[in-house]
Amino acid sequence: MSFSAQRPVTPFWRRPSTWWIVSGVVVIAAVVAGIAVLGPTTGSLLVKTTPSPSATKSRTATPTPTPTPTPTPVGFNKQALSIDDPNSLWVIVNKHRPLADPTYVPSPLSDAPVSYAYASTMRSEAADALTAMFAAYTAETGGEMMLQSVYRSYDTQAELYKGDDTLTARPGYSEHQTGLAADIGDISGECAVQTCFADMQAGQWLAANAWQFGFVLRYPDGYIDTTGYEFEPWHYRFVGTDLSTEMHNTGTPTLEDFFGLEPAPRYPDQG
Ligand SMILES: [Zn+2]
Repeated sequence: MSFSAQRPVTPFWRRPSTWWIVSGVVVIAAVVAGIAVLGPTTGSLLVKTTPSPSATKSRTATPTPTPTPTPTPVGFNKQALSIDDPNSLWVIVNKHRPLADPTYVPSPLSDAPVSYAYASTMRSEAADALTAMFAAYTAETGGEMMLQSVYRSYDTQAELYKGDDTLTARPGYSEHQTGLAADIGDISGECAVQTCFADMQAGQWLAANAWQFGFVLRYPDGYIDTTGYEFEPWHYRFVGTDLSTEMHNTGTPTLEDFFGLEPAPRYPDQG
């Protein structure tokens, strides 16, 4: 057998199988390299998609409108009744505000069944409240009060008015013409329609309790520049318990202050 008869040996780099092997190695290397490079990135991306605590916090920290029911403030309605209409329990009469009709006569009128010096005629609502107030005073103290002056007509006021504006209201400008004002004194007549009534038991009781019956002290001490009248501890004005209670609770001294009216210290023609 001759050596030359042997088939020539193909060099390994020229064998197809070698190139398949080389190609396979290259492909595997490329895949491994790709995983090595992309792996961490892919991992970090996955971590980032997980909601971080701060992201969760900021999301829940977004202000959520919570419907908290706000109670409607129940304010006092100062327009509930007229302060201009003489028939209104809130009518305000002063030296700037005469009665709309100078000859106005209130209705209905009735006589309060209490002790009185001259008369006990008032607007019926006021007469009823005053009667209850007098009874409460007697029940609490054993004392007794009496009426000095109540409703006065335009003609009566005209007779009383002698031209001295510091003593008597002009006709058509008197709160007594509304039938809602009462001059109140002690049954003894002591200090009747005088400043010293403020120091008597009845005067002090009225100052403390009249509001509970719908009355207000119309001309308090120190407010002549607002009301136009010196201190009259005997002159009470019926306005109803709604208003008297509100003025008491807010510590408002005068009707002018409560309704924001201009002070009326003098008649307009007095400058
Ligand atoms: Zn009076």
